[in-house]
Amino acid sequence: MTHKTVASVEHAPPAHWVGDGFHVRPLFAGKAFTPAVSPFLMLDYAAPVNFPPRPGNPPGVGPHPHRGFETVTIVYQGEIEHRDSAGHSGKIGAGDVQWMTAARGVVHDEFHSKEQSAKGGLVSMVQLWVNLPAKDKMSNPRYQTLLAADIPTVALGEDGTLRVIAGEFAGHKGPAMTFSPVSVWDVRLNGGGATEIPFARGHRSMIPVLDGEVRIGGRSFKAGDVVFLSEDGDAVALEATREAKLLVLTGEPINEPIAHYGPFVMNTQAELRQAVEDFRAGRMGDLAA
Ligand code: MN
Repeated sequence: MTHKTVASVEHAPPAHWVGDGFHVRPLFAGKAFTPAVSPFLMLDYAAPVNFPPRPGNPPGVGPHPHRGFETVTIVYQGEIEHRDSAGHSGKIGAGDVQWMTAARGVVHDEFHSKEQSAKGGLVSMVQLWVNLPAKDKMSNPRYQTLLAADIPTVALGEDGTLRVIAGEFAGHKGPAMTFSPVSVWDVRLNGGGATEIPFARGHRSMIPVLDGEVRIGGRSFKAGDVVFLSEDGDAVALEATREAKLLVLTGEPINEPIAHYGPFVMNTQAELRQAVEDFRAGRMGDLAA
């Protein structure tokens, strides 16, 4: 195996609020919605925030649309509840993942669950946007609830664990169905832990550091850094100087134009105008009151 090297690094700007429920740092920073992160688009990380109890009035984000991509929510702490105009609804807690394919369009909301908000407490999560190939952008919305129990956890020797949400690692296949080849791995490294992670060739690969500190190629990276790896090489050597929480994201780049406006990601400006028009005309549906 030859090691990938560090090609570039993004440092996330400070956190901002999404609605009143999610205090997120946009980890891809200046590379969000560019070919550099393809097939991904954007990555928001909400580090743990302790919310006071708010019975009957859960924090979150009210109804809003999406078209042309998928939203992947990984919950680390707390419980999140959502509903969408395709009739899906559900709750996900620590370790669970919601993989929502907006495709031709949904309207949804995202809140702390009623129970979570009644008792208050820590909420931490990630939301990753995964682009769809042009041919799938107008397909039917789909919703996958991936419960922690269905996500394989692979031991990295004595040095940590890797949860396979999507893609395949060491013979373990993640439960997520995807439209293009994508790997999403949730990795914990113990302090002092060192490991080598093999990758599929031809994939773009990046390592967002969510907590702690890791060393790659003799350099140190901390929470809020996203390490973009070189195209060459088929493995990365990771060392945690202290306990670390990270993601490993890899995927085959989608080499198609990216047109982005707010919650819509299409290929052309005309398709974005159509998305706005379809949303306004109620063609992405509505949430029952
Ligand atoms: Mn949303």
